[in-house]
Amino acid sequence: MRPTILNPLFSTVTDLQGIGPKSAALIERIAGPQLWDVLRAQPYRVQQRTRIDAPSDLYEDQLVTLPLLILQHAAPRNPKAPYRVNALAGDIPVQLVFFNARNAWLEGQLPPRADRVVSGKLARFNGNWQMTHPDYMVPPEEIDSIPRTEPIYPLTQGLTSRVWNKALNAALEQAPTLPEWADPSLQQQQKWPGWQTSINALHFRADGAPEASTGPAPDQRLRTDALRRLAYDELLAQQLSLMIVRERGRRRGGTALSGDGSLSTEVRAALPFTLTDSQEEAIDAVRSDIGRNERMMRLIMGDVGSGKTMVALFSALVAVEAGAQVAIMAPTEILARQLHANLFDALHKVGVRVDILTGRDKAAARKPVLAGCAEGAIKVLIGTHALFQEGVSFRKLGLVIIDEQHRFGVHQRLALGQKGEAPHMLLMSATPIPRSLVLALYGDLDISKLLHKPAGRQPIKTIVKPQDQWGDVALALRRAIEAGDQAYWICPLVEETEVTRLTAAEDRHAMLQEMFGPRVGLVHGRMKGEEKDAVMRRFKAHDLDILVATTVVEVGVDVPNATVMVIEHAERFGLAQLHQLRGRIGRGNKASTCLLLYTAPLGETARSRLSIMRESNDGFVIAEEDLRLRGAGDVMGTRQSGLPDMNFATLPEHNDLLEIAQRDAQLTLNKIPDLAGSRGEALRTLLYLFEREQAIAFLEAG
Ligand code: ADP
Ligand code: MG
Repeated sequence: MRPTILNPLFSTVTDLQGIGPKSAALIERIAGPQLWDVLRAQPYRVQQRTRIDAPSDLYEDQLVTLPLLILQHAAPRNPKAPYRVNALAGDIPVQLVFFNARNAWLEGQLPPRADRVVSGKLARFNGNWQMTHPDYMVPPEEIDSIPRTEPIYPLTQGLTSRVWNKALNAALEQAPTLPEWADPSLQQQQKWPGWQTSINALHFRADGAPEASTGPAPDQRLRTDALRRLAYDELLAQQLSLMIVRERGRRRGGTALSGDGSLSTEVRAALPFTLTDSQEEAIDAVRSDIGRNERMMRLIMGDVGSGKTMVALFSALVAVEAGAQVAIMAPTEILARQLHANLFDALHKVGVRVDILTGRDKAAARKPVLAGCAEGAIKVLIGTHALFQEGVSFRKLGLVIIDEQHRFGVHQRLALGQKGEAPHMLLMSATPIPRSLVLALYGDLDISKLLHKPAGRQPIKTIVKPQDQWGDVALALRRAIEAGDQAYWICPLVEETEVTRLTAAEDRHAMLQEMFGPRVGLVHGRMKGEEKDAVMRRFKAHDLDILVATTVVEVGVDVPNATVMVIEHAERFGLAQLHQLRGRIGRGNKASTCLLLYTAPLGETARSRLSIMRESNDGFVIAEEDLRLRGAGDVMGTRQSGLPDMNFATLPEHNDLLEIAQRDAQLTLNKIPDLAGSRGEALRTLLYLFEREQAIAFLEAG
């Protein structure tokens, strides 16, 4: 059970007074449903409000806080014209300007001859000082309610900073004092503040002043320490839980599965190609791993198109030969169906029953699958995360394969691993990740890299062009279609609402249909699963020449006949994502072209990203560059640039913390393997805080 001290953090935003359901929904969209999610949201920049006595050129166009003597109001006759209030800062006239003002309210706020402190952007208009819609207007004695330092959050449309701050203030107020889990000597050496102080400092609040960011903001040094501490907490929770799970997996051991090679030989003979050396090595490694009485934990890292599915197939065959069942999990419906389609023939031919189970299947359709799986008739079950839901049981689950595993949360991976008697685990990832990141994500596991690409692949030619150079794009498309090839067209990922994103894709779809006729399809994230699948199927069957898409084609979709990829607003995508997208082409043996269209002006990071894309086709190189570039600090991208499942920790900045966390977790588990005693208690709180309670379940199951 979660310690009660954490309850306030896990209560929902909807429970807060004064936050309506509409605001709560918006807050949930940018942060999450719980107060803890709100606390974890990071400001991406901080702005200063300078306190001044009088306007001067020095402060033009800056945010200032300024005392004024209010003079007379000038309400306009035409309600569309601005409402003006004349005032004096010392002896310098300043005009306050309001649009669509409610006169009575303004007269109440700014009574003539009263002293007021206002805060907002100071501007000069026709030589006169002005402030339009001040952010704050208070009597002089309340000047301290105007913050000097104001963190800015990436708010979504419709969510004002007033409402956000209300939620944040409430969350900060309710944040409990938690027991200290950090090792005392480490904390001293690093000069880390306590958890509560750190959370306050994250939001530029001085400790004990949760009401508003009034007093002096915590100094920069404190905030830096606080951020490192929060990152450390996160890494420690993660390393600890990974170690507990791993340790227990070792103790429980795995069941040795050794096949006789009969099925593999038959399937191999029927393949239209020979496996690459990398594929063979990976399959050998898996065979030897699962032939031992120790649970396999292996990650297959292979660039897009390197042929991971074959590794999955032959790994599954070893397990099936040994009389065990195999579960293969894909992150989306489309990918699960594609895996099923790709593996069905090979398995069916050798008499291995394979089936599919996804969240979309109705009860009637699920029933025979569940039964077949429970009695062991279905040897290979492919699906989405529906696979590890209640009601799915296996007779003898020996191997779990997780495709595109980086798309799953740690929780989901763990949950599936708990089915059956500690099944062997094979994780597959198309995102090659540097060693440091592997450690951060999984602790110590074995890795196979698919370095060789299948023979006969042609390198993809990547061209970077300004968005408005349509000629080349149309030409490339026309040429491909005339040669009987197909093309993807990826539409901009904009930060506005879903609706505008849709319009962009729909507009492009309409335009391309005008140019190329009706064989242009559209698929986007707002479509229902079945609709999406139907379009994808038509594209796969070559009923469509061009597929306009938002990023739903990002991973795994395999249409070898597609040779052109156009990505609009390529500057808005991350490197890994661009590489993933590009990996959708170049899968057959024809030459392929990727056109990256950008809109000027390009920032420095975007420029580097695009030139790396042009120069390299190697996912491993790109992954290293990606980490380097993102490490360099993409301010807006805090949420994406970190590690998956992580809020505070980023690499390579926190490499040192990762190592310390790993050592600390190991020492701790040696000393208090059951997390008993007061530090143990505190560490359990930490695990719950970061929602790693599965690890605790493992501890308790012994
Ligand atoms: P990914 O690693 O991205 O999952 P896939 O497993 O989807 O890649 O394989 C990409 C394509 O390469 C598929 O069409 C597959 O049939 C083909 N393929 C896989 N292995 C080989 C090989 N050894 N030789 C030739 N083609 C292969
Ligand atoms: Mg794949």
